[in-house]
Amino acid sequence: MGISDQWWRDAIIYGVDVGTFLDSNGDGSGDFAGLTSRLDYLQGLGVNCLWVLPFFPGPDRDNGYDVSDYYGVDRRFGDPGDFVEFLREAGSRGMRVMVDLVVEHTSDQHPWFQAARADPNSRYRDYYVWVDEPPENPDYQPIFPGVEESVWHWDQAAGQYYFHTFYHHQPSLNHANPRVREEVKRIMGFWLQLGVAAFRVDAASHMLEPKGSMDFPGDPHAVLREYRQFAAVREGRVAMMGESDVPPHQVADFFGDGDELNLLMNFLLNNYLFLALARESAEPLRHALQLVPPGSGKGQWANFLRNLDEVDLERLTGAEREEVYRRFAPREEMRVYGRGIRRRLAPMLGGDRKRMEQAFSLLFTLPGAPLLVYGDEIGMGEDLSRPERESVRTVMQWSDDRNAGFSTAEEGALVAPVVTRGQFGYRKVNVADQERNGDSFLRWMQNAIRTRRECPEFGWGTLTLLESTNPAVLAHRVDWNQNGIVVVHNLAAAPAEVSLELEGNGGEWLEDLLRRERLKIPRSGRLSLRMEGYGYRWLRLAGMRSRRANPSAGADRGASRSGSGSRGRSGGGGLSGSGGEAR
Ligand code: MG
Repeated sequence: MGISDQWWRDAIIYGVDVGTFLDSNGDGSGDFAGLTSRLDYLQGLGVNCLWVLPFFPGPDRDNGYDVSDYYGVDRRFGDPGDFVEFLREAGSRGMRVMVDLVVEHTSDQHPWFQAARADPNSRYRDYYVWVDEPPENPDYQPIFPGVEESVWHWDQAAGQYYFHTFYHHQPSLNHANPRVREEVKRIMGFWLQLGVAAFRVDAASHMLEPKGSMDFPGDPHAVLREYRQFAAVREGRVAMMGESDVPPHQVADFFGDGDELNLLMNFLLNNYLFLALARESAEPLRHALQLVPPGSGKGQWANFLRNLDEVDLERLTGAEREEVYRRFAPREEMRVYGRGIRRRLAPMLGGDRKRMEQAFSLLFTLPGAPLLVYGDEIGMGEDLSRPERESVRTVMQWSDDRNAGFSTAEEGALVAPVVTRGQFGYRKVNVADQERNGDSFLRWMQNAIRTRRECPEFGWGTLTLLESTNPAVLAHRVDWNQNGIVVVHNLAAAPAEVSLELEGNGGEWLEDLLRRERLKIPRSGRLSLRMEGYGYRWLRLAGMRSRRANPSAGADRGASRSGSGSRGRSGGGGLSGSGGEAR
């Protein structure tokens, strides 16, 4: 299998919400025409996979994760023609499109549910999970404590209770029912045929949990294998990225034997990453990297700093979570559901440029495919006056024009508010200013992403944690195809001296990929580095390059194409996925 067949292993994924990105027609809601008009911006940023959050028709009581028609585009965002134009324009710029597959549940407005509740003999009744009496001790706790009291909801028309993992207006689908599985495959087939390259499988782990009377025959994971197999037969290069926030010993199960989900959102790493940032210590990250092995041949981790939900810290102990709260969410209103933080990254880090760069440097260099969300590339903030997770879903800040350049509608007609006040208000944080300023965070981000794309080792390589003489310093290396990169992060505010053992590389050169300078590794192999506070360095082992130039060692074509560190060569190569490579 060629490298581009597993494009997802090395993708730079950008999560975008159509409704809050750009409004092209002045009706107050972002739309596909608006998103399409900003594809050049996204191409300039360097991302190559666009995860488009749900845009399907539905009541929109959960940011689109309540679907009433899986085959449509909600009117607010345009029509299916606009979607297809978007898909085509993205593809022509080398960007693949990932859509949400939201099938753990439907909206209660979906015709299946309406038919199911109206008639116990309907063929749709068993699409859902019903009981006469909820169990006294349900295995399940509601996902949104304080908002929902139970996972069972009484339905007057049905005369029974139905199961819902999430909000009561989102009845869970019964994936033990083969008819439901056929429906899911029809939905996947539809979007694949249009040309989407990937699905983000919403609530993948919850789909497989037992719910009351619903019982899977055999292994629940067979359901995900069935969906993956269907998708892979239709389109061999499909990627399925799963949301499965489960304990460490279960999480790798979702890769299956390489026949289940290709990408898993790395919630575990995210928990410990925030603990490491809060503590200014490398130890939590070392722990996390040992707890969950790199994706190996079976799949890949999708690493992220923030997504468009809360920072979910439920994998930490209570005391650890308190540490993160104290540092990054000191006020109660910044927390949610008793487990997380409803803030964006930049304000959590106090808008400190060095800390923001370092956080993204960690994201880009830990093994996996990095995932970022719209607005974080310019350091947008949140609006805590909004309920629950809506706080981080404010509109994209394009300029200091009215409504941050998002829309020409009246302020009251906007789908979500503009952050107007304070350090993160749109007059201070916007794309136009940062495009003009060569030292801006956006410019830094563009450079970091371009450099990351020239380093396939991060997506493909083998991780080694290096012994560091300083507990604040995380040092690791990734090796792939006779190429290696050494990465060093100082998580503390204070400068640090660190000594690294690079056994076997004594006498070789290291090329600093972000500063364009070279370092010599002493013959002993012991390298001493002085790191700035919150500093980070990406150091390519340049000695390997000269070895590879030896014809007797360079038989592997893959090695000669990849990661040479030379901009000229990799810029047009297959690996960096330049224009036109996507389907
Ligand atoms: Mg609009």
